[in-house]
Amino acid sequence: MRRESEGGGAAAAAGGEGDGDDLLSQMIQTLLREADTPPKEVEGVSEEFCDVLDRVPRTSLKESQTCPICNNPFLEDEYPLVVRLPCHSTHLFDLDCIRPWLRLRGTCPLDRTDFAKQEREKAEARRKKPVEDDEEEWDGMYG
Ligand SMILES: [Zn+2]
Ligand SMILES: [Zn+2]
Repeated sequence: MRRESEGGGAAAAAGGEGDGDDLLSQMIQTLLREADTPPKEVEGVSEEFCDVLDRVPRTSLKESQTCPICNNPFLEDEYPLVVRLPCHSTHLFDLDCIRPWLRLRGTCPLDRTDFAKQEREKAEARRKKPVEDDEEEWDGMYG
C-alpha cells in the first residue's frame, strides 16, 4: 500500500521589494525631466523663421553699416552672415546676434515689428482657412 505524501511544497514566495526606493527615484526622475524641458512660454519666432530670413551678400554691404546689436561693422568679419528683417530694407543684423533675440522676443529691435505675432496669426489663419476645394460644381441643370 502506498500512501501519497502530503505537501507538495510550493516554495514560490517571492518577496522583498522595497517600495520606498521606487517613490524616491520617481520623484528624482520628475525633477530631472522638469529641469530638462525649458518653459514653453516663449514669445519668439520659430527656428524656421530665422532660417528663411533674407541673407545679405557681403558685396552689398557698406563699410559704414554696423550691426545694431553688437555695433560691429559687418565688413569687419571676413565672412559676415548678415540678414535683413522683413520690416525694413535697412534693418540688417548679424544672424548670430538677431537669432537669439528673435527666438526670445520675436520683434525687430529697431521698430518693434512683432514677427512672432505675425507668425502666430499666419499659422492661425492657415488653420482656420476654409477648404476652398469645396466649390460647388455647376451641374448644368439649366439649359
Ligand atoms: Zn552683431
Ligand atoms: Zn525693423
